[in-house]
Amino acid sequence: MRFFKKYKKLIAFAVCGVSTFLVSFVSYWLFSTVIFSGILNGGILTIASNTVAEILAITFAFITNKLFVFESKSFRFLVLISEAGSFALARAGTSLLNTGLMWLFVDILSLKEYELLVKVLVNAIIVVLNFVLSEFLVFRKKHVHHFARILLNEGVEYYACIPLSKCKITKPYLLFKNGFDKDANVIVMLFPYRTKTKAENLTAYASVKDYHAYVEGLSRKLEEYVLRKYPTAQFKVFSDHSPIDEVHAACVSGLGFMGDNGLLINEKYSSFVFVGECITSLTPKQLGLVYADEEEWRTCLHCGKCKESCPSSCIQTDEDGKDASNKRICLSAITQKKGELSEEEKELIIKYGSIWGCDVCQNVCPYTKNAKYTPIKFFIDSAIDVLDNKTLTGMSSEEFNSRPFAWRGYETISRNVQIWEEARAKKQAGQASEAETGTQSEQAEVQNTTEASENE
Ligand code: SF4
Ligand code: SF4
Repeated sequence: MRFFKKYKKLIAFAVCGVSTFLVSFVSYWLFSTVIFSGILNGGILTIASNTVAEILAITFAFITNKLFVFESKSFRFLVLISEAGSFALARAGTSLLNTGLMWLFVDILSLKEYELLVKVLVNAIIVVLNFVLSEFLVFRKKHVHHFARILLNEGVEYYACIPLSKCKITKPYLLFKNGFDKDANVIVMLFPYRTKTKAENLTAYASVKDYHAYVEGLSRKLEEYVLRKYPTAQFKVFSDHSPIDEVHAACVSGLGFMGDNGLLINEKYSSFVFVGECITSLTPKQLGLVYADEEEWRTCLHCGKCKESCPSSCIQTDEDGKDASNKRICLSAITQKKGELSEEEKELIIKYGSIWGCDVCQNVCPYTKNAKYTPIKFFIDSAIDVLDNKTLTGMSSEEFNSRPFAWRGYETISRNVQIWEEARAKKQAGQASEAETGTQSEQAEVQNTTEASENE
């Protein structure tokens, strides 16, 4: 099933290819032996039968590729004409290339004795070319709805629409306050945030600016478009302070699944994603969307890696296998605690070198191995590689307030920076004295050797 989902497009393309060949073959036989045989003969019969067979095969290939392989959903007349025209041209072009390549290899390069092998290779090239042309030229998503285009332009490639009735409502008063009823729809969105900048002492989400500012910018663009087009519609973007359970909504809409580490895991970005959603009185169709496929793409492997590596051993399951994690002792929660920390807590910060958050259970997860970095400029441009005393004290209040750790106040993050700085200074001093001892013993050894050789 997983294999099928992963290679769905290629499998569908192969099935359509074989079916197209059958259509061409059967129709040629039908026209040459039954339909045209009484009225045409000789070369004319062959050319006419083959031409009709090719037209039928290309038409069949176009319809099946559009519907089942490239899933182009638009049936507007202009879109159909444009797709059908470019598909026919592309296929005519690759047919000509097919003939040209055969002539080149067999006649010009004198590979007649390998003719069949050449035919197989040339056909393989043509099949690949047909796929590439269809994917990037014929069925390219030129007609993406403006709403989706805004999301894509802002780096949101994972979004899905579900009815509100499928969501777990956690703050009903927020729905009421914003005038939504039970028939509203939800567009769940994922915002990947991990950048290539690996912060020395910060987790991925703390090394970039607070995502709420990004969501605000995105909301403005979406609301401006939607309310201009549908002035009486209800439309609001939420993130974090939301009327629904966002992670549950992301799972229900097929954008990811819940891992044993308690995080939403997405196929491309693993768990390094924030979740947000638009709630609206509009239908999916009005926004150029369709309801999401509920099927989950994968599930947690239950490999236990997150549990084994957790610094605080706080990922737990009860006897029935239900989540019984103790979030209070999670290192991430410890770094966010106000006031004085216990020696044990300070030790954890020092040992794992993180002054805000903890990425251990995310980094060890097998789904993170090939996870991609964010394409979102807001995060890429704001990533910092270390938060030491110098960087922290050098921040303007505006810069400080734009950071995810600002909400706990300056004292909390500053305390953590001091703990980390002191540990770093001790480590550096230890390394320096080790190096000093090493140099002294090396010098003593050299001196001893020199004296010994002088005595000799
Ligand atoms: S964030 Fe760190 S401490 Fe918290 S559950 Fe994950 S691994 Fe454990
Ligand atoms: S590390 Fe393993 S058990 Fe934990 S969330 Fe990832 S796949 Fe699931």
